[in-house]
Amino acid sequence: MADLRQQLLDMRAKLLQEMDLEAKAEREGNKDEGLDTYDLASEERDREISFILSDREHSKIKNIDDALERMDEGSYGVCDSCGLEIAEERLTAMPFTRLCRDCQQEHEREARSQKRVEDERNVYRKLGSTDADEESI
Ligand SMILES: [Zn+2]
Repeated sequence: MADLRQQLLDMRAKLLQEMDLEAKAEREGNKDEGLDTYDLASEERDREISFILSDREHSKIKNIDDALERMDEGSYGVCDSCGLEIAEERLTAMPFTRLCRDCQQEHEREARSQKRVEDERNVYRKLGSTDADEESI
């Protein structure tokens, strides 16, 4: 278990380092650009992209922090969903996971079918808005 904690701490340090490098690269990139209107637009877009990136990295770090917290509490390695112990090999591969393999698969299946429902809804919404446009003409 001590190894896993070290692994988590290493992952966390590496992520923070990457985010730092990214932020630095972004600052330096901005310095080189002249600020005419075209660049302002692209700067806006860059900021959006880097926000999405760091958002994803933040959630990774949060997962790692959660795992470290659970280690302190002694609840680490127990599946959030079914309460059974998570296999050690799974923890070694994904030290921040909260679900056992079965529950993870179940979860992914649900997420996929949820996404399908949403896609279908979007199609209906599009069709619906087309109808509305035709009516208004
Ligand atoms: Zn489970």
